[in-house]
Amino acid sequence: MAPDWNTTLPNYRGRFAPSPTGPLHFGSLVAAVGSYLEARSRQGEWLVRIENLDPPREVAGAAREILATLEALGMEWDGEVIYQSQRNEVYQAALAVLEQQGLLYPCVCSRKEIADSSINGIDGPVYPGTCRGRFPAGRSSTALRVLTHDDSIEFRDALRGPIRQQLASATGDFVLRRADGIYAYQLAVVVDDAAQGVTHVVRGVDLLDSTPRQIYLQQLLGYPTPAYMHLPVVTNAQGEKLSKQTQATAVDVSMPVVQLVAAVRFLGQTPPAELAESNVASFWRWALENWSPQKIP
Ligand code: GLU
Repeated sequence: MAPDWNTTLPNYRGRFAPSPTGPLHFGSLVAAVGSYLEARSRQGEWLVRIENLDPPREVAGAAREILATLEALGMEWDGEVIYQSQRNEVYQAALAVLEQQGLLYPCVCSRKEIADSSINGIDGPVYPGTCRGRFPAGRSSTALRVLTHDDSIEFRDALRGPIRQQLASATGDFVLRRADGIYAYQLAVVVDDAAQGVTHVVRGVDLLDSTPRQIYLQQLLGYPTPAYMHLPVVTNAQGEKLSKQTQATAVDVSMPVVQLVAAVRFLGQTPPAELAESNVASFWRWALENWSPQKIP
């Protein structure tokens, strides 16, 4: 069972893990600010990891731009930034551990075949297990899936309370390495959170549904499970999550405090109006003294 938010671990270590598919936009700023305030207000560390697993989706220069924006906003991280693009061997080693336990199998189904023979789950079609036990392992140009089972995965989210999900009906056996050789987010995030010793994960609620898959992989790989807090996500006028796909605009670093004040307001905090006219250092002093996660809507 994953630890509760407040009952855990003396040495808090949080992280912000942006995907460099574009510059930092207001939605990712909220996740950065929430994870930063929660970590720093508890004298914890705050790490930054660039999640650039998928080369075609990466935008040249975006990682550098995101880091420069965090710096301009006065958000200092601990240690070296790690880049997922440089960690394929570590992900492969984790797959080998699962493979040895007989938990992986190659899958040659096309998207269309899966869509045609499946019911919809939380994240698209639930994989019906077509390739389970069908192909000899070791062919490199197939996707690799991990076996799931009927037992529910349960955890308590710091804001949303108890969450329970049965992977067999929510997603089915899920992909850990795609047919093109790219490691899945679900695998990489688990390997990296463990490798970096992350104790507390603060991120957007769009990832709440992914957390049971991640806890399941932590259990299979013998890693500790961090505590989780899923923040509300920023949506545009159409109700879509801000992202590169929905044309979110970059955070304007010429007015850093205005952006930071807007981010903490979004998180339910109540900064005084004059704070918007102050500087970055005064903003953080106020924000750290007054941070109350119980106010997050
Ligand atoms: N890289 C993911 C994103 O930008 C976040 C992953 C995470 O925080 O676990 O949406």
